[in-house]
Amino acid sequence: MYEMTLGLEIHCELKTESKIFCGCRNEFGGEPNTHCCPVCSGFPGVMPVLNEKAVEYTVRTGLALNCEISRYSKWDRKNYFYPDLPKAWQTSQYDLPLCKGGFVEYELDGKIKTVRINRIHLEEDAGKLLHEGGVSRIDYNRSGVPLMEIVTEPDLHSEAEAVAFLDGLKSVLKYIGVSDVKMQEGSLRCDVNLSVAKPGQKLGTRTETKNLNSFSAVKRSILFEYDRQCGVLNAGGTITQETRRWDDNKSVGYSMRGKEDAHDYRYFPEPDLMPVVLSGEKIEEIRKAIPRLKKERIAIYTEKLGLPLYDARILTADKDIADLFEGTAAVFKNPKKASNYIMSEIMRKGKREGSEDVEIGVSPAALAEILTLIDSGVISLAASKDVLDAVWNGAESPLAAVERLGLRQNSDSGELESAVKEVIAANASAAEQYKAGNQKVAAFLVGQVMKATKGKSNPKLVGELIEKLLKTN
Ligand SMILES: [Zn+2]
Repeated sequence: MYEMTLGLEIHCELKTESKIFCGCRNEFGGEPNTHCCPVCSGFPGVMPVLNEKAVEYTVRTGLALNCEISRYSKWDRKNYFYPDLPKAWQTSQYDLPLCKGGFVEYELDGKIKTVRINRIHLEEDAGKLLHEGGVSRIDYNRSGVPLMEIVTEPDLHSEAEAVAFLDGLKSVLKYIGVSDVKMQEGSLRCDVNLSVAKPGQKLGTRTETKNLNSFSAVKRSILFEYDRQCGVLNAGGTITQETRRWDDNKSVGYSMRGKEDAHDYRYFPEPDLMPVVLSGEKIEEIRKAIPRLKKERIAIYTEKLGLPLYDARILTADKDIADLFEGTAAVFKNPKKASNYIMSEIMRKGKREGSEDVEIGVSPAALAEILTLIDSGVISLAASKDVLDAVWNGAESPLAAVERLGLRQNSDSGELESAVKEVIAANASAAEQYKAGNQKVAAFLVGQVMKATKGKSNPKLVGELIEKLLKTN
């Protein structure tokens, strides 16, 4: 039985306003080739100007991942020809990256594990090739977008570890605000280096599978490559060091080319850019601007707001959710109720098909208003879902939506009593079971009344009425 060893290279696009060496907008999407200039299109003779924000974001990441920050780092040209790279070299960092060392903690099956970071360097992203109908086109909007590469040590040993680590890393990157980490848009991409060996033996030859853009692709490509390498070795073959491609639709990996070594790229110092020199004060200034991370937030939620650890963990898994919770709890002073509602309704509604991300379409103020409307009995929990639908990504206020949709709940006991009576009459056997002591039937009867009144009744009141009517009969 072979053991697998994995090291990851994570490419993360930084969400700066402009590109790394020119003033073009750094924005996903847009008409092809509309965010371009002579610099990012690689015209001869143009001069790059460094975007300091990109350096700051990379240093911020290094500090959050416990790295040593280089006081002196420089730029190098990585030379290769490919149509998406107009200059025929990529401005990157070779022997003096911005950050070295470091580690990331992540959680798997309730255990805290650690992955060491080898280095983090900054470079420019390439353009994008679009292959359609037998024609290939090039979009240079992405060319020159600041790209941070995080290289781990080979500390991972299963696909589950790889995904849990990536999830933890993604969460940190989002918390510190350096990237929107949207894998489906390519702002976070992952290369997997994988080798296999019998326990106790030295690591085998590794292969690298490039550009994986979902957790599912990472997981499936690892399992595929592990099986493939085991198969080759079991048949008496040897593993070739190579770069591989993953076809996500077919769930199959292919050999792309023999793996290059650094000398194939003829790295040499970039003559058009000054080295990056960072003072101790500058590094401290960046450190102070790091926002509160997950661990600190969990401590505040459990110790100050009295939430169970379970809730605190779920709410902090994504920064947008954590921010929504904090903003809501600042207005609506029942943190547990806010937490329950976010963990059920908001996370259900914000979940996107085929994506790990949750998209939030409601402001903390609007959510606090919805919770207040439920709490004060103006609307039922069931009706609040319609209110949420109405205000999601829109400008209408929750109260306005309640009035427009006629969702004020019926607390008129006379009217409600006749509705309850009708339901009891229509469900005679359930009523008999209730009277015989089967309390579980009560929930069913309440549900029937809620249905008959289109969710506009106060469920607590309905329950009381059912009890009253069936006891006195
Ligand atoms: Zn440009």
